[in-house]
Amino acid sequence: MAHQTTTRVGEPFDRTLMEQLMKRRMFYTPSFEIYGGVKGLYDYGPAGCALQANIVDLWRKHFILEEDMLEVDCTSLTPHEVLKTSGHVDKFADWMCKDPKTGDFFRADHLVEGALEARLKGDKEARGQKVEEKEEDPKKKKKKGPKSTAVKLEDTVVQEYEEVLAKIDNYSGDELALLIQKYGIKNPETGGDLEPPTSFNLMFQTTIGPGSALPGYLRPETAQGQFLNFAKLLEFNQQSMPFASASIGKSFRNEISPRSGLLRVREFLMAEIEHFVDPQGGKKHPRFDDVKHIELALLNRDTQLEGKTTVDRISIGKAVETKLVDNETLGYFLARIHLFLNKIGVDPNKVRFRQHMANEMAHYAADCWDAELLTSYGWIECVGCADRSAYDLSVHMKKTSQPLMVRAIRKEPLKVEEWQIDIDKKKFGPLFKKDAKTVETAIEQLSQDLREKLNLDLQKEGKIEIDVPGVGGGKVELQKGVVEIERRTRVENTREYIPNVIEPSFGIGRILYSLIEHCFWTRKGDEARGVLSFPPPIAPTKVLLVPLSSSPYFHPHLQSLSRKLRTLAISCRVDDSSASIGKRYARNDELGTPLGITVDFQTVKDSTVTLRDRDSTSQVRSSEDEILKAIKGLVEGVETWDDVRNRLPAFEGQEVD
Ligand code: AMP
Repeated sequence: MAHQTTTRVGEPFDRTLMEQLMKRRMFYTPSFEIYGGVKGLYDYGPAGCALQANIVDLWRKHFILEEDMLEVDCTSLTPHEVLKTSGHVDKFADWMCKDPKTGDFFRADHLVEGALEARLKGDKEARGQKVEEKEEDPKKKKKKGPKSTAVKLEDTVVQEYEEVLAKIDNYSGDELALLIQKYGIKNPETGGDLEPPTSFNLMFQTTIGPGSALPGYLRPETAQGQFLNFAKLLEFNQQSMPFASASIGKSFRNEISPRSGLLRVREFLMAEIEHFVDPQGGKKHPRFDDVKHIELALLNRDTQLEGKTTVDRISIGKAVETKLVDNETLGYFLARIHLFLNKIGVDPNKVRFRQHMANEMAHYAADCWDAELLTSYGWIECVGCADRSAYDLSVHMKKTSQPLMVRAIRKEPLKVEEWQIDIDKKKFGPLFKKDAKTVETAIEQLSQDLREKLNLDLQKEGKIEIDVPGVGGGKVELQKGVVEIERRTRVENTREYIPNVIEPSFGIGRILYSLIEHCFWTRKGDEARGVLSFPPPIAPTKVLLVPLSSSPYFHPHLQSLSRKLRTLAISCRVDDSSASIGKRYARNDELGTPLGITVDFQTVKDSTVTLRDRDSTSQVRSSEDEILKAIKGLVEGVETWDDVRNRLPAFEGQEVD
C-alpha cells in the first residue's frame, strides 16, 4: 500500500523540500503559530489564497456556469433541530480509543491502519525489499506513529493485513474493537493499553444567542442549507426539473486526530452540488451523451472486498450500461469531476474513483464513489459523489410538514381505481367534536386493502371499527350513513414525487494540497530550486516582470506593461530587487508563476521584450503587443507554450544565476 510519487526529473518526491517551499513562500501556515498553534487549523498566505481563489473560480465556471446551477450561500450556524432531523446529531461520528494513562485520543480506524502498515513495512525490510515512505516524514517526525521493526511475517498474515487495509473504511465500531484486540494494537507513541472504541460526534456545538435557548452547531457540510431551500429554488427554476443547486463555503469538523497537513483539518472550504432528479425513469441525464466516451479509473467495491486495489479503466458509458455505476446522472458527474481535476492540472495518472463499500455508505445512499488523488500520504478522498436518494428532502418534509416535493404534469392523465370513503360532515362533526380532525386523518390514512375489507363489514354489519390512537380507547365505531365506502375511478393529471439527489462534494483544501504535490518538482542537479508547474489559469500570479537592473530607464516600460496586463485582468508582479535575473526567476518558479517578461536595454530602443516559460526556461522575443497577445492566449488556455514558440522568434540569451 505504499505509493511512489516522482518529480519531473524522475527523482523520488521529497515532501520535506516541498513543505519548506510552502513555508518560505507562505502558501499556508499553522494558525495561531506564535501561541503554539492548534492542530488541524491553518491560515493561507497570499500565494495560497490566490491559488484557492483560482481553483474556486474555475470550479464555478466548470460547474455552476456551464450547467446553469443555482448558487446559494447559506449560514454556517445551524440549529440543533435541523441536524437532528438530518441524522448528523446521532450519526456524524467516528470511532476513537482513549489511552487512560496519557489521556490521548486516537481514531480507531487510523490506529489499525497505522499499526498494520508499520508491520507490513517491517516485513518488507526483513525481506530486504525497498520500502517507500507513506505516512509521516521520518526527517520531521521522530516520535509519532508506530515504528516498523524488521520482522518477517507469515505470507498468510501479510495477505490478511492487506485485506484488512483494503477494507479499512468498511468496519463498524465493534469490528474495529475486535481488530484492535486480535492484533494487540497499543498506543503508537507509548505502547500503552487503549480503551475499546467509543463513538465521538464530529460537530462543534454552540448556542445561538444569549442564554442557551437555541442549541446549534457549526455546519459539518454545506448541503443542508441547499435542501432546506429546495422549494424556493424549485420555484425560482419555474418548477422545472431536473436542476442543481450549488454552494461554496466553510465546513467544520472536530476531527479526533488531525494529521497530514491540509488533508485532515477542522475547518475547510467545501464546494457542493445537489442535483435534484426524478427517481422515475432511471435517473437519466440530458447531457450524458457528451461524456459517455470518457475513460475513468474505477476501483469497484467487489475488488476491494477481495482485498485488492486494481482499477478498471473503462468508459463511463460502459460503466453505467453494465450497472457498475448505478445511473446516468451519477456517471455524468463522475466524468465531469474527472474533467475538472484534469483542467486544474492534477496528474491524470494519480486519479482514481473508488466505490464505497456497503458499511461505508449511508444506509439511504444508492451508490457512492470518491475521486481519490495519489499523494505522498497515499490515496486521498478529495471529492465524494453520492446518490443520497430522497433521504434528506423526505426527513425535512416529515419534520416540518412543508412540501419539499415536485408536482409534475402527467403526459397522459392516470386513471386510478380505488376505494374512496365519504364522510357526512354534518353527522361526523357533532359525533366526534374536538376529536373529529384526528378521526378524519386516521380514515384518510387507511390502506386500500383495509378499505376493501371495511366495505364488506359496513355492508354486512352496518358499521365499522377503526384504530384511532388517543381517541375512545384507541378504537372508534363508525355507522353506515356517517361514512360510505365505494369503489370509484379517480383521474390524476399531476404526479407528486420527492426528488432524488446526486451530490458531488469537493474538499477544496485537499484538492489544493494534492495539486501542489502533483505540480512540485526540482530542477535537475539543483534540489534547492523548486518549481510549481501550475497550469497558467490556476497559477497564483501569471506574469513576473523583471527589469534587467534597477535603472530608471526601464520604469516607463514596466509601468506600461503592468497597466496593460491589469486591463486584461492578468495578475502580474514586478521584481526589481537587486538579485540576479536567474534568482528572481527561481523565486517565482517557486510561486508557480508560469511566465516572465524581461525588460532590457533593447526594450528601451525598440519596445521588444522577452517572454520566458517557467517549465522549460526557454524564451521568445517580440514586440510588447505580440508578447501580450501570447500571454493572453496562454492564460486563457487557448494556446500552449509550444504554439507560442512556433510563432515567435526564440531568444537564446542565458539566465544569469
Ligand atoms: P464527506 O462529506 O465526508 O464526503 O466530505 C466531502 C469532502 O470534504 C471530502 O471528499 C474531502 O475532500 C473533504 N473533507 C472531509 N473531511 C475533511 C477534513 N477533515 N479536512 C479536509 N477536507 C475534508
